[in-house]
Amino acid sequence: MATTPFIKKTLGLETAEPAVTPPPHNNAEKVLKKPKLAGGRKRDIPEGLWNKCPKCSTLLYDKDLDANRKVCIRCGYHFPISARERINSLVETCSFEEMDANMTSVDALQFTGVTSYSNKLESYQKSTGLKDAVITGIGRLADYRLALGVMDFSFLGGSMGSVVGEKLTRLIEAATDKGLPLVIISTSGGARMYEGMFSLMQMAKTSGALAYHARKKLPYVSVLTHPTTAGVMASYASLGDLIIAEPGAMIGFAGPRVIKDTTQAELPPGFQTAEFLLDHGLIDMIVPRNEMKAVLCNVLDYLGVDRKRLAALG
Ligand SMILES: [Zn+2]
Repeated sequence: MATTPFIKKTLGLETAEPAVTPPPHNNAEKVLKKPKLAGGRKRDIPEGLWNKCPKCSTLLYDKDLDANRKVCIRCGYHFPISARERINSLVETCSFEEMDANMTSVDALQFTGVTSYSNKLESYQKSTGLKDAVITGIGRLADYRLALGVMDFSFLGGSMGSVVGEKLTRLIEAATDKGLPLVIISTSGGARMYEGMFSLMQMAKTSGALAYHARKKLPYVSVLTHPTTAGVMASYASLGDLIIAEPGAMIGFAGPRVIKDTTQAELPPGFQTAEFLLDHGLIDMIVPRNEMKAVLCNVLDYLGVDRKRLAALG
């Protein structure tokens, strides 16, 4: 077979049986390459391994993004992060004792819209692995024992129902009893309308508990993440001795579209962003997620938390 092309070449222009001769070199290469491509490497890449940054459009590898606490490596955009991931990024390993982990809402109003409230609760519990939109507990951040509450937007938009309010109130009361500093990291679309008045009552209840905490001269640091709005912003989220926000977080009571439609006025650029609110004095600091732990340590130190006394309590 190898001799056939050799013969053909020596014959020059004579093309008597071209069809049966082996294909030219270019085609031969293609034939050889084909089995390599047949494996389809592209198809082997599982979906969801890459994330596109909504701000700078960079494609980010999941592992790199996780290693950077879900902050874009290129532009610093803060992706949403779950409550558990956030707790892990702040407290020392195995130091977090969760409180009221199994508390769940009841459908007191028998609320039914497109689907019933109880169905919604069930499906969100399944999809998030959470019982409700907040995780509370006592843990250690560097040398500091503190009461920590972290909200999760992926559970019904981080809405504040009776469970969120009750868990936070119990956390605040535990902090008051034990003489601990308190940190609450908020993200919320507001009060949970499926629970009607019961959700609105949580605003007064949490604020009341915070007043008792403050009377004992214990520090409370409120951390606002994207987005923190409505009933949560109008209660415990804005009552911190110090209010910290993550860069670019949307913070406000009503959303900008609602305000614009109601007032019929042009809103200033950057309205309701953390940066705008810092300029206007509503918040005290903007701290990137990767620096949050170090800054919280400094802040607790600044607010006069006695490490030794807390260590003795722990
Ligand atoms: Zn980016």
